[in-house]
Amino acid sequence: AEAKLRQVQKMEAVGQLTGGIAHDFNNMLAVVLGGLELAKRHLHTGGPDAQQHIENAMEGANRAAALTRRLLAFSRSEPLLPEPVEAGGLIAGMSDLLDRTLGDTIAVKTRDAGTGWTVWVDRHQLENALLNLAVNARDAMEGRGTLTITTDGKTLVENEIGECPAGDYVLISVADTGCGMTPEVLDRVFEPFFTTKPVGKGTGLGLSQIFGFVRQSGGEIAIQTVPGSGTSVMVYLPRHLGEPAAAAVEAPMPVPQPA
Ligand code: ADP
Repeated sequence: AEAKLRQVQKMEAVGQLTGGIAHDFNNMLAVVLGGLELAKRHLHTGGPDAQQHIENAMEGANRAAALTRRLLAFSRSEPLLPEPVEAGGLIAGMSDLLDRTLGDTIAVKTRDAGTGWTVWVDRHQLENALLNLAVNARDAMEGRGTLTITTDGKTLVENEIGECPAGDYVLISVADTGCGMTPEVLDRVFEPFFTTKPVGKGTGLGLSQIFGFVRQSGGEIAIQTVPGSGTSVMVYLPRHLGEPAAAAVEAPMPVPQPA
């Protein structure tokens, strides 16, 4: 009965979300159409504002494209293109983006415990996942605090984290000094559409998407959180032990596992 209730609640959430997306998408289209309409008028009268209106329209279109990209990634119709990715290097390459995303009042620290932490994943999905975790951390810190991203190697025994097979993993941990989560929230964070954020701010797709990606990549994810003090999200991905690049490119795609 409990499971059934959950299922019903989930269907309700899907309905709400679909409505929410249609609403957001419509707003973005309104911006595009409004901008183009104004630009058209200004072209007629030779006014100087046409350029600005076109830029507004383009911004609206870009937002709409980003929304559909997120939905596509969530429904996993985007193919995964795994390749060897050195985690520390990837994170170092994101530092400008992270600084800009987190703003001036949040310190971003990256720590790389050694080097050579190579994983076999889709690079864009890993970047997206880390950016998503950083945005969640930012939201939890309300403008003040420290985000620490650490890369390290870790050998796990079977089922040490979730249902992981024994082996060598790369651990990427994303830790914030934010509000933390209550046990009730922690219990539900990986559910699609579960969010505590106001409408328009949260979709509740971030962590469930990351969960799907990590599982599909043969990894596991764990969260440690203390209400009022902060959260660490630990992403474990199987370590890729370097074979020649050419061989790596020809290696078959891992079979996607249902989450
Ligand atoms: P969204 O961010 O759109 O709400 P997520 O799936 O990424 O969707 O997160 C679900 C919920 O988990 C958030 O609404 C928030 O309550 C909680 N959460 C996620 N990350 C953190 C964090 N770093 N600190 C505190 N709470 C978090």
